[in-house]
Amino acid sequence: MPTYVRTDQCDGCKGRDKTACVYICPHDLMKLDPDGSDTGHTMKAYNQEPEQCWECYACVKVCPLNAIEVRHYADVVPLGGMVQPLRATDSITWTIRFRNGNMKRFEFPTRTTAEDSINPYAGKPEVNMDEISNPGVLFTRGTHACDLSQFIHS
Ligand code: SF4
Ligand code: SF4
Repeated sequence: MPTYVRTDQCDGCKGRDKTACVYICPHDLMKLDPDGSDTGHTMKAYNQEPEQCWECYACVKVCPLNAIEVRHYADVVPLGGMVQPLRATDSITWTIRFRNGNMKRFEFPTRTTAEDSINPYAGKPEVNMDEISNPGVLFTRGTHACDLSQFIHS
């Protein structure tokens, strides 16, 4: 079921360098309505094709104002239930509201290392751009494990 934007909470990401939900949606569904001509809500984001939404929650998690929610399936979260994530720098908290009003919160760590502490290229060989068009380099340099005998040589 698709996302929807709570217009009482969305500020259109004004003052930020990007409209976060528009930037993050892998399906390009989120759109900002700068002058209200599409939705009647000026400077609010909206899901422009709800039937295409994957429910991946990326926009929900990235929204700095927690302004995006997901309409859940009736058999999963019926009649007013709600599942809402809130991301922090090193954890994510899921708030579950049941239809009888009960609330539960689950917090999970999202990192095991300090932010910006990872160097993904550490210990890797320098790239030689002259070799980039030679597909065999990946294997002969030993960067990818491969049994070369599987290839047929002419
Ligand atoms: S990320 Fe949140 S605050 Fe920013 S435009 Fe989207 S819904 Fe609005
Ligand atoms: S839940 Fe995923 S697919 Fe749906 S609008 Fe948000 S980012 Fe896009």
